[in-house]
Amino acid sequence: MGAGIVVVGAGHCAGQLVARLRAEGYGDAITMVGAEAHPPYQRPPLSKNYLSGEVGVERVLLRPASFYEENDIELRLATRVREIDADGSRVILDDGQSLAYEQLVLATGATVRRLAVPGANLPGIGYLREISDSDAIRAAFSEGARLVVVGGGYIGLEVASVAAGRGVAVTVVETESRLMSRVASPEVSAWYLERHREAGVDVRTGVSVSGFEGDAKVSRVRCADGSAFDADFVVVGIGIGANDALAAAAGLETDNGVVVDEYGATSRAGVWAAGDCTSHPSRLYGRRVRLESVHNAMSQAKVVAANICGKETPYDEAPWFWSDQYDAKLQIVGLAEEGDERVVRGDPGAGAFTVFRLRDGALVAAETVNGMRDHIACRKLVGAGARPSREALADASVPLATLAA
Ligand SMILES: Cc1cc2nc3c(=O)[nH]c(=O)nc-3n(C[C@H](O)[C@H](O)[C@H](O)COP(=O)(O)OP(=O)(O)OC[C@H]3O[C@@H](n4cnc5c(N)ncnc54)[C@H](O)[C@@H]3O)c2cc1C
Repeated sequence: MGAGIVVVGAGHCAGQLVARLRAEGYGDAITMVGAEAHPPYQRPPLSKNYLSGEVGVERVLLRPASFYEENDIELRLATRVREIDADGSRVILDDGQSLAYEQLVLATGATVRRLAVPGANLPGIGYLREISDSDAIRAAFSEGARLVVVGGGYIGLEVASVAAGRGVAVTVVETESRLMSRVASPEVSAWYLERHREAGVDVRTGVSVSGFEGDAKVSRVRCADGSAFDADFVVVGIGIGANDALAAAAGLETDNGVVVDEYGATSRAGVWAAGDCTSHPSRLYGRRVRLESVHNAMSQAKVVAANICGKETPYDEAPWFWSDQYDAKLQIVGLAEEGDERVVRGDPGAGAFTVFRLRDGALVAAETVNGMRDHIACRKLVGAGARPSREALADASVPLATLAA
């Protein structure tokens, strides 16, 4: 057996990749090196039903730990790759050991962005990326405790909704003028603002945090407009950045992520990358994109595994995302931009609707609230670059499935 494949990272993408490699018939050694102590797990529950305590760790694992042994996949957990020696085809681990590879896959994911304001290092200020982060947030939940969430994006709002359900007094502070502004239309932002306010969450938009105060731990959040909020604990969700430093240090091309082609190949032969850490070309949008989603992590893993096994498979899918807040499900397909034309189907007041985004007549994205069937139809339409009429989109009596290009 040769040196085989080394996978850097043991997250969602890596877990899927190694399983796909075996499914594709890859017979050589596979070693997965992950900085965290857990085998690959799903992160979405960390801000949803794992955070609420409805499911335990065993339910968030991607596969049972026995899967890796049964499939002859070596797991090196709680171990970090310090350096890639691309000329020598080996990686160097944090304990100084090195692992040789024939092919290397980078699935290093992303890291939370940290707030750089006075007091940002006070205890009681948390971020959410790993199981232990979710555990720490849940441990702070108690009736009447005061939580300030910094950032009104997916993660912050999911935390707010779980916390509010546990009797926590929640304030959300968001710099932009509306919630989820990076990913959602004004209609969807407004609908979610109402849900949070109905649940008793104090949502402040257009407000930036300027610092934290407290002695032994955080007790107050100060904002640039002079407002301030008492807090027993704080969760910051202001976005993530790709873990591409390891690749850059090894001389691989990076640009807001590890640069890959449509096959998942990096600028260095024999080195692949997949998941949150990559920047890949999108045929649909005619530019490079870096996505932060389970669908992308799973699909790129599948594509890279197939390509390593010699099946030339390009990655070409419409991206999709979801968010669970209260009892509402938001599902988004595609990437919208400021200036896209918007068409609404359904009645937001009735609790289920879709906002379509059109660019030069083509359907480029669709945001669906509480409408699984419409979302599935939209995945096909967006993926196919459909050009439906505005009238048909707005008319809920016209089945979306009939609007194909
Ligand atoms: C709280 C939360 C909720 C989310 N909810 C959703 C959702 O509802 N829907 C959705 O589509 N997506 C959601 N996401 C995003 C989704 O989880 C990510 O897109 C997905 O995890 C990406 O998988 P990945 O394997 O590329 O990266 P990751 O899951 O980040 O895994 C990368 C792993 O690599 C490890 N690593 C990095 N560098 C090294 C190194 N040098 N050596 C060894 N190991 C290393 C990291 O420690 C990490 O464990 C959520 C994310 C979070 C945090």
